[in-house]
Amino acid sequence: MRYISTRGSAPAQSFSDILLGGLAADGGLFMPESYPQVADCLAEWRQLSYAELAFRIFGLFIDDIPSADLRDLCNKTYTAETYRWCRAQHDAREIVPLSTIEANFHLLELSNGPTLAFKDIAMQLLGNLFEYVLSKRNESINILGATSGDTGSAAEYAMRGKRGVRVFMLSPEGKMSAFQRAQMYSLTDKNIFNIAVRGMFDDAQDVVKLVSNDAVFKAKYKIGAVNSINWARVMAQLVYYFKGYFAATKSNDQLVDFCVPSGNFGNICAGHIARQMGLPISRLILATNENNVLDEFFRSGVYRPRTNAETSVTSSPSMDISKASNFERFVFDLVGRDSGIVKDLWQRLDSPTGDRCFDLNATRFMQRLPEFGFLSGCSTHAERLSTIRMLWSQHQILIDPHTADGINIALTVRNPDVPMVVLETAQAVKFEETILQAIGHKPLRPEELAGIENLPQRVRVMDADANQIKEFIAEKCQ
Ligand SMILES: *Cc1c(COP(=O)(O)O)cnc(C)c1O
Repeated sequence: MRYISTRGSAPAQSFSDILLGGLAADGGLFMPESYPQVADCLAEWRQLSYAELAFRIFGLFIDDIPSADLRDLCNKTYTAETYRWCRAQHDAREIVPLSTIEANFHLLELSNGPTLAFKDIAMQLLGNLFEYVLSKRNESINILGATSGDTGSAAEYAMRGKRGVRVFMLSPEGKMSAFQRAQMYSLTDKNIFNIAVRGMFDDAQDVVKLVSNDAVFKAKYKIGAVNSINWARVMAQLVYYFKGYFAATKSNDQLVDFCVPSGNFGNICAGHIARQMGLPISRLILATNENNVLDEFFRSGVYRPRTNAETSVTSSPSMDISKASNFERFVFDLVGRDSGIVKDLWQRLDSPTGDRCFDLNATRFMQRLPEFGFLSGCSTHAERLSTIRMLWSQHQILIDPHTADGINIALTVRNPDVPMVVLETAQAVKFEETILQAIGHKPLRPEELAGIENLPQRVRVMDADANQIKEFIAEKCQ
């Protein structure tokens, strides 16, 4: 399998070559040059363990890692030990257990990994793949990133102790929850460096961009990223759509709807690709919070990224996005994989003198949109609270505010004859304040995490100054 850019002017590359990079050289995103068709594999795949299913799926997209090694990587990544934070009635060996709320209405638990959010599922694979490929090539990498919460901690827990990898993670000083700070700053691994930047998340992000744009520094210190546009992350997320489908159905001629709490379009992009590969998905329901740029597109055909000032801080913070970085992958498919059109559309978004949006209404692609099965909706803070309260009081199931965005929309569009699988993207214990507001008490924490805020923390506080960050990286790389 070769990987091509959505903008069409970067050379095609192999999996291992695109694994460590970010954007393609022409500014586009990497996509497999075709989608493997798997309808005939479903009968066999239905019986497989998570790790074995992952091995079969990844094998369709990776042809430069020997099969036995790939299987070892999958077995090492998807273990009951790593995904042990499941609800009491479940078996952690399932990795992503399915909870049935009522007939044909399910929750797929994706947040049972070390940071209690779904990003672990892809990031844990990335940690093992990075270590494997770097050691084969006798190379190393310094991952530089900025986080407002989930991504940074998932990256650190995935990369801790990995040979050839250091992580420099910037976070806005004092802006994350005490639990999130404790999760990240209490790590003692020698290859993990937490930097709290005086300022907001955007300031931290700007510093990362400045450092990464210094080509000489970037090459000398082998600066890399693990952001959500990384193809391997999207690929890793395919597996649970298959697992969820098998758990919610009895036979492979049934259709299923998936509802996905969405921000950067990474999670649901994997659902779209699974559907293109022949998994019988009827509808992909995209749920946003008040930051509804994607809901707006699927309702109106207009994609208008927001400014920072137009982006609000909500109680489902991991979905507070101004633009959706993986959306370009879907648009590439929507326009029949014509990279000239993608380039033109993104030029309109990026041009400082243009209108910074595009409208597909006058194009033939608008008629094609229904073929892809998308539906969307957005929720408010009040709706998240009432959804959490309703699920708790009627079903004794406690969900987090992101999952509540999904449940809320799923309930409004569900078809009682088609199984609906809502993806659970984080656990309630990460969002104590919102849960307290919704149900009047804080969620019970797993014993292992009680008092995590009291552990010693390791973090360097710095100004949002690229030069200081560069000096720090240089010092740690000696
Ligand atoms: C990242 C995240 C999302 C959004 O996922 P995307 O892939 O960016 O669409 C939703 N919920 C939680 C808890 C997250 O961490």
